[in-house]
Amino acid sequence: MKTTYSIIAPIYNEIDNLPELHRRVKEVMDSSGESWELILVDDGSTDGSTEKIRELAEADKTVRPVIFARNFGHQPAITAGWDYARGDAVIIIDADLQDPPEVMLELAKKWKEGYEVVYAVRAEREGESWFKKFTAAAFYRLIYSITDVKIPVDTGDFRLMDRKVVNVLKQMKERHRFPRGMSAWVGFRQIGVEYKRAARVAGVTKYPFSKMIKLALNAITSFSYFPLQVATFFGFVSAGVAILAIPVVIYMRIMGSGAFTGQATTLIAVLFLGGVQLISLGILGEYIGRLYDEAKGRPLYIVRDAPEEQ
Ligand code: UDP
Ligand code: MG
Repeated sequence: MKTTYSIIAPIYNEIDNLPELHRRVKEVMDSSGESWELILVDDGSTDGSTEKIRELAEADKTVRPVIFARNFGHQPAITAGWDYARGDAVIIIDADLQDPPEVMLELAKKWKEGYEVVYAVRAEREGESWFKKFTAAAFYRLIYSITDVKIPVDTGDFRLMDRKVVNVLKQMKERHRFPRGMSAWVGFRQIGVEYKRAARVAGVTKYPFSKMIKLALNAITSFSYFPLQVATFFGFVSAGVAILAIPVVIYMRIMGSGAFTGQATTLIAVLFLGGVQLISLGILGEYIGRLYDEAKGRPLYIVRDAPEEQ
């Protein structure tokens, strides 16, 4: 049977959200009058979510479980969803119901109007700390200003994509991935729909600060050379300062000035340059490490259990 909508929800320890997620998605999608499937990607949950997903799939054939061998992360889970989705339109949604399933109908409406990527823009966020809101806002703006692709701000992974777009994304095998950047990069007709981001229904965020930093690094390195260019910039600035300083110091010495003598000045200059060089090396290392990961070509995720047909 032809499937119109594939809804992908990545799950990492979301046991208390699963029944409600399934209920609300079912209610909304049934009301659309079209065929749909719900792909629950279990990203190595340890709280019993795996069994819950199997139970849901047992009771409702529209639920298709993809169970990972371990925790691979949110982005690989989304990727697996793309690989298993059969629908003409693919919707990614968070399992904690922060993305209200009702908004899916608005996304679908824009798709019917001919848009191929319909992303949901967070006009408001409820139930999140000021720290989360601040770091998220800073993150989106930083990414927007330094990447080569214009990734819409305040936009998460909650979005609908046409089959054509998903087929392109499936060919993009990069390891360190930033799905929302990838879906902006491909082009096509794109539009945003505003929504109010709700509070988590149950459980706690699976995105501690350390994971947000990792995501930000992936986003930046995947879509820009900016950090490498910063290193070049610092190189030119310190070389420029040195060249200008030489005649100044010579002149001051001739005039009998005692300025710039002694170890302190030398030490500061050496430490400054040493710091700049080490940071630049670190940045290079980040890119080289990523190249190494790509070269190994390991699978992005490993599935323990999944539906027969892909
Ligand atoms: N998630 C995942 N693997 C992870 C971390 C998160 O599949 O390693 C899922 C999580 O279950 C949720 C979605 O990604 O469905 C978004 O995570 P979360 O709600 O914790 O992020 P936040 O909304 O706090 O940014
Ligand atoms: Mg959330």
